[in-house]
Amino acid sequence: MKRFALREMVVGLSLLASLPAVAAGVHQHGLAKAAVVLEGESLTVSFRAPLMDILGTEQPPADAAAQVRYEDRLKQVSEPLLPESAECLLNHATRSRVTSLFPDVDSHDHDHDHSHHVDVEAEWTFQCRSPGELTRIILPFLDTFSGLTTEVVLLLPQGQGAIRLAPGNTRIPLE
Ligand SMILES: [Zn+2]
Repeated sequence: MKRFALREMVVGLSLLASLPAVAAGVHQHGLAKAAVVLEGESLTVSFRAPLMDILGTEQPPADAAAQVRYEDRLKQVSEPLLPESAECLLNHATRSRVTSLFPDVDSHDHDHDHSHHVDVEAEWTFQCRSPGELTRIILPFLDTFSGLTTEVVLLLPQGQGAIRLAPGNTRIPLE
């Protein structure tokens, strides 16, 4: 685990939005960002990836059928898997929807040749009775979106760090 200085970290309501590369609006195809924050019994896992890597396109859906296909694809960014012994319950989950990614989806005057460089975002909050048992977190969808490299920021009681998951690697070790 690579350590870095506390002053480089800005912990806010939206941790990922505060990461420098994201704040600058830079979005690199093939590169996802994740954050794991454990505070007491509260665990938050955030994930953000370029739309291109999730949908295979950044074009607005051409019709209602395409919109359904897009929505199905977004749903594959599924809930993280945690050790059962940690006794975690999912409190809250959010994920980008097609309508939020393409707010002009119903208008017919948008430019179909213009790529739409936005990110798919998801966040899950768990309440864990035995947070000490959280030795790993699995992001099962990284197997599906196997072209993604994922940079993970960890804010844990035992310290802070960052790791990089190679494409296809779904496991975030917390030990
Ligand atoms: Zn893009």
